[in-house]
Amino acid sequence: MVLFFLIILGVVTYGILGELERRKDVPAEEGGACPGCGSPVEADWIVCPRCRAMVREQCSECGQLRALFHRYCTGCGHDSEKGQA
Ligand SMILES: [Zn+2]
Ligand SMILES: [Zn+2]
Repeated sequence: MVLFFLIILGVVTYGILGELERRKDVPAEEGGACPGCGSPVEADWIVCPRCRAMVREQCSECGQLRALFHRYCTGCGHDSEKGQA
């Protein structure tokens, strides 16, 4: 009976560790997704390597690189959709 309990405990522990391991493998998507093909792009990419779409452009106000899928500049808060800050 004790052995049976230990086996159950081991299976449960193994399952929990496996779940934690799987969560660690999920890539961080800091860069967001390409507006052209939808594939994940890394934070420092300017052009998507899969479809060559621009994923970043320079802010017209402060010159900081801004992801095209971000509406506001992370450097100065410039609103890219209004044209003026
Ligand atoms: Zn792309
Ligand atoms: Zn800016």
